[in-house]
Amino acid sequence: MTSMVLWEHYHLPTSVPEALTLLARYDGRARIVAGGTDLILELEQGERPPVAALVDVSRIPGLNDIREEPGCIVVGAAATHTRIEASPLIRTYATCLAESCGVIGGPQVRNVATIGGNVAHALPAADGTVSLVALQAEAQIARLAEEAGRVMYEWRPIESLFRGPGQSAIDPTRELITAFRLRPHALGEGSAFARIMRPQGLALPILGVAARVRLSPDGMAYADVSICIGPAGPVPFRAQSAEAALIGKPAESASMEAAIAAAQEEARVRTSKYRATAEYRREMVGVLLRRVVNAAVARARRWLVVAAPTQP
Ligand SMILES: Cc1cc2nc3c(=O)[nH]c(=O)nc-3n(C[C@H](O)[C@H](O)[C@H](O)COP(=O)(O)OP(=O)(O)OC[C@H]3O[C@@H](n4cnc5c(N)ncnc54)[C@H](O)[C@@H]3O)c2cc1C
Repeated sequence: MTSMVLWEHYHLPTSVPEALTLLARYDGRARIVAGGTDLILELEQGERPPVAALVDVSRIPGLNDIREEPGCIVVGAAATHTRIEASPLIRTYATCLAESCGVIGGPQVRNVATIGGNVAHALPAADGTVSLVALQAEAQIARLAEEAGRVMYEWRPIESLFRGPGQSAIDPTRELITAFRLRPHALGEGSAFARIMRPQGLALPILGVAARVRLSPDGMAYADVSICIGPAGPVPFRAQSAEAALIGKPAESASMEAAIAAAQEEARVRTSKYRATAEYRREMVGVLLRRVVNAAVARARRWLVVAAPTQP
């Protein structure tokens, strides 16, 4: 067996401008790597041609930060799933994201794999991505401006980053996702994520669902809901008919039945020999949707109880 060089140079830049300048120097022949849990496998298995260089962004100070800013939480693209799952800020104010990062791979994968890599890989079932879509996060993209050396930053809605299975709108030979930002849960809001997975064998999820819910001030109706299901189509799927079936309706079982029917109608779940039959997966759309919406409602109500004025 001949051994093949999969990359010729490995760079460890310590700033975003340095990473982008390195990419520019290789003019499309170098690629960003973070945890490497997707990319190195793809290179080794010949799914991607060898590259001239890998530009590793895991040592850039601040790129793995998780912090609060006025009105939003910012999660660095190089934050690992372990770090996100353990973050009190994310667990409290973006709960579904902590839950989804907590089920990715095993501990070894979670310790190195990053949320930026999860999104840039652009799979419709990527767990961290499914929650970011339900949270309607935005991604910050950095690229070099025409005048050499100047870095341009742009915030884009996360849903605009996906073109198809494994096809990102971000070009990791020239661009970098630097961070995600999301609105933290406020009073009367909660979120949850749930997934069904084969217990062994190929690491392919059968289905994952994330939901964020905002209740009316009295806690009795859905004021706002956003739902993401994956895989249920070529990109992480926003279940907008199911959302519409809940928004403005009483938070009770009749509304949930209507939302489940809508989600089962709109989700494009196919039979896959690696996942499960379409019939089973459609059934699971209902099971998981009910589970995550109920969990999100319970969390949202807990806040309302805590915030309610105490009786004299
Ligand atoms: C055993 C195993 C189990 C797994 N289980 C799961 C699972 O349960 N759920 C799940 O969702 N995934 C799973 N994965 C897939 C993978 O671990 C995740 O998608 C992970 O988040 C990828 O992150 P990474 O940092 O390792 O990405 P890398 O492999 O470093 O990069 C992936 C892609 O993104 C690009 N990229 C990386 N960072 C950036 C950036 N900041 N800006 C622009 N482009 C970038 C790279 O060029 C590459 O194309 C598993 C993988 C393995 C090997």
